[in-house]
Amino acid sequence: MQAIIKARPEVGLELADVPRPVPGPRDVLVRVSKTGICGTDRHIYEWDAWSAGRIKPPLVTGHEFVGIVEDTGVAVRSVRPGDRVSGEGHIGCGYCYACRTGQTHICENVDILGVDITGCFAPYVVLPESNIWKVDPAIPDDQACLFDPFGNAMHTVMAQPISGRQVLVVGCGTIGLMAVGILRVGGANLVIAVEPNPKKRELAKVMGADIVLERVDAKTIKDATDRGGADVVLEMSGHPGAIVKAFDCVRNAGDIALLGIPPGEVSITWAEQIIFKGLTLRGINGRRMFQTWYQCDRFFRQHPTLIEPLITHRLPFDEFEKGIKAMQDGSACKVVLDWTDAKT
Ligand SMILES: [Zn+2]
Ligand SMILES: [Zn+2]
Repeated sequence: MQAIIKARPEVGLELADVPRPVPGPRDVLVRVSKTGICGTDRHIYEWDAWSAGRIKPPLVTGHEFVGIVEDTGVAVRSVRPGDRVSGEGHIGCGYCYACRTGQTHICENVDILGVDITGCFAPYVVLPESNIWKVDPAIPDDQACLFDPFGNAMHTVMAQPISGRQVLVVGCGTIGLMAVGILRVGGANLVIAVEPNPKKRELAKVMGADIVLERVDAKTIKDATDRGGADVVLEMSGHPGAIVKAFDCVRNAGDIALLGIPPGEVSITWAEQIIFKGLTLRGINGRRMFQTWYQCDRFFRQHPTLIEPLITHRLPFDEFEKGIKAMQDGSACKVVLDWTDAKT
């Protein structure tokens, strides 16, 4: 079958013929219909320091998908051929402390689809039954292939109470913009979005942000939030300068949820910026399995077109490079690839 692979330890991704994966007794083989290109795939394309340290080529990339079950292993009970499914791309080991205490999203030995193991940028993908998610018929394919990033947004928003609170979202890439939408319908009192890219600032308005700023500006944010600062900050930029400033924009006893990944160390004035303010910080990784998936599923069913404006590019699979270039030049938000015509 055709697949988008990282063939060698260098910049780029390419189309290649690879063997179709074979499901084990507890695995599910899925005929992929649509996939989303993630920021992670862009990092793998660009072969940044993280990719070079983690990825072992050759590797089929991709982890955001929706498709139809083609075949199942003998021990699979919950899905059948013909079921429409997506899947959690973080595969927990099942035996570490985190996995055995209901916190598989921070498994110590996690295998990530399209990062550590064969991914979904292909017409077929194999996933363990336990990671498969049956998709409600009310959720269109274009949204259903985005459970993964939408789940990151949902997990970050739901990490603390947001109803009736004033929330600052720092960084409006796809996940930040999804978070704005969730906050809007989730009952936040005020949503302030910060994003340097003007196209994404426009999208932040479309998603329902009350105030949209180009940079983290503590004075404007304090003036807009009863002078004390935001009750909640969702840090989704990973930008060290923005992170430091975001700590000055949260009120005493506020919450900060940290999803954006900075490239290195971030310098915080520990006493003034955290301790004396009595802040609660939470690191957010992946999606809670499977609480976050239930939350996303219900949200998608109730608001089936809410994230529609974020899908800026729909391309056939073999034009993936066009999608990555559009992500690099800032013109794309979410790129969805169609695998209908791929050689199987
Ligand atoms: Zn992703
Ligand atoms: Zn584990």
